[in-house]
Amino acid sequence: MKRLAIIGGGVSGLAAGIYARLCGLDCTIYEQHTIVGGELSGWTRGGCHIDNCVHWMTGTSPDSELYNVWREVGVLTGVEGETIQNEAFLRVETAGGERLDMWQDLDRLHRDMLAVSPEDKPMTDRFIREVKAYRCVELPSKFPPGQLPLSELWRLFRRMRRLAKIHRRCGRISIADYAAQFKSDVIRKMLTVYFPPQYNISSLMYVLAIFSNGNAALPRGGSLAMAMRMARRYEELGGRIITSRKAVKIEIDGGRARRVLFSNGDSADFDFIVCACDTAVTFHRLIGSDRMDKLFRLWYGLPRSYPVHSSLNLYFDVADPCAMLPDTSVFECEPYTIAGQKHDTVLLKNFNSEPTFAPEGHTVLQTLHLQYDGEYEFWSRLRASDLDAYRREKARVAAQVIARIETRYPSLRGRLTCVEAVTPASFNRYCGAYRGSYMSFILTPHAPKVVHRGVLKDISNLYLAGQWLQPPGGLPNAVLTGKFAIQRLCRREHIPFVGYGVTWR
Ligand SMILES: Cc1cc2nc3c(=O)[nH]c(=O)nc-3n(C[C@H](O)[C@H](O)[C@H](O)COP(=O)(O)OP(=O)(O)OC[C@H]3O[C@@H](n4cnc5c(N)ncnc54)[C@H](O)[C@@H]3O)c2cc1C
Repeated sequence: MKRLAIIGGGVSGLAAGIYARLCGLDCTIYEQHTIVGGELSGWTRGGCHIDNCVHWMTGTSPDSELYNVWREVGVLTGVEGETIQNEAFLRVETAGGERLDMWQDLDRLHRDMLAVSPEDKPMTDRFIREVKAYRCVELPSKFPPGQLPLSELWRLFRRMRRLAKIHRRCGRISIADYAAQFKSDVIRKMLTVYFPPQYNISSLMYVLAIFSNGNAALPRGGSLAMAMRMARRYEELGGRIITSRKAVKIEIDGGRARRVLFSNGDSADFDFIVCACDTAVTFHRLIGSDRMDKLFRLWYGLPRSYPVHSSLNLYFDVADPCAMLPDTSVFECEPYTIAGQKHDTVLLKNFNSEPTFAPEGHTVLQTLHLQYDGEYEFWSRLRASDLDAYRREKARVAAQVIARIETRYPSLRGRLTCVEAVTPASFNRYCGAYRGSYMSFILTPHAPKVVHRGVLKDISNLYLAGQWLQPPGGLPNAVLTGKFAIQRLCRREHIPFVGYGVTWR
């Protein structure tokens, strides 16, 4: 049987492994950590479960193509109650006391926006109309880019043709510029507080559209449970996982990847290799930067057009059920600083829909603070130069944030304990995330959306997977690139592909 190595056991690596087993390949996943999951992970601190990743997962609606993939990889099984559908994506409160919920029900959102700001009616009407138009968008999940049959291209074109004009315009406006057209402070805040404001507005409209479609709910059990479901599915299909095994080099000879060398001195030969680790690791450590192709050179080489972002995430054990807080909320507050940058809002994620995450009567709250390139430098330099100072800085920020939460919610005074702080440096250290970014390149108005085909011209048996191939990344792109890597391999090697879509028999 042909032997396949998958480097990296994140969502993309696990997905590649599952489809490889469905297609009958002898497959081993090598993961540098003690568990698989990559960014899709969770752990315990101070008696609380720390959920590292999922705030919404695209593909939870049975009407979407992606739903079939989540089912095939074992994340969704079609059982009622396995996802959590919140009423609102986000609640925003300004310092002036205005409040707005980004409801799943777009007509309700429309009414509320008009109520808070009648003078913004033309912009509000247009915004809701445009979000509704994005509801037709489907993430093509059957066939890899470049392998879509004409009939499929035609179907997608017909489905989305009415969006073309809107998308051409909205793809070229940043969230910041779009929001600036509203007079209302709370509407501007609602649009700019969650996503990096350099994103094009179409990205936010798309997320809101799929959320309103019921296609972006939360998988019950959170990130770790989701990763473990994928790992179980893979192992039940006969796949092998070797953890604590870091790949350090791939030997390439005569246009073929022949051997993987590991940090413990072991090496092994394979017929095919899927690199499902961060592509910066693939290029800079495993195969050499000189093998980077034109598209990756463009992406990495033009950080102004293709920026990345990260966040500082704090986790609090709260001795309160936090019933007054929705799933996700943002409030304006006294300014505070992180890595020399001023922040004047706190974004709270409430985990009380997962009662096992905290001791009885307690809740885990997470705060997310967007961080960019400069902040990544700050955290990684501080950690490398002075570990104690790094820890003190995390504690200082946590104290500032606790003070703001207590001011906004006096009933929580004295009830918050910071149990974990994850910085952009942590994401890089843990998963090799390029500049601490746990998503792919931001879709800005200056750069058209392009996807990578997942193969390199001069290495015939090496396939790429992972969210970096399909900006802006995230779980759907990660799982699809894992599937697509195996579809490409099957096509090239004349192996029947087994799975949703079926490209080759
Ligand atoms: C705070 C946070 C919030 C998020 N929220 C969402 C959300 O709400 N919705 C959403 O869709 N996405 C979200 N994401 C993004 C999502 O987690 C990622 O897009 C996805 O998990 C990426 O999967 P991947 O397989 O491409 O990469 P990774 O998860 O990075 O997996 C790569 C794996 O390769 C391993 N590896 C690296 N180098 C080596 C080596 N040399 N040898 C062996 N193994 C190696 C790593 O340890 C890792 O396990 C969030 C992420 C974070 C951190």
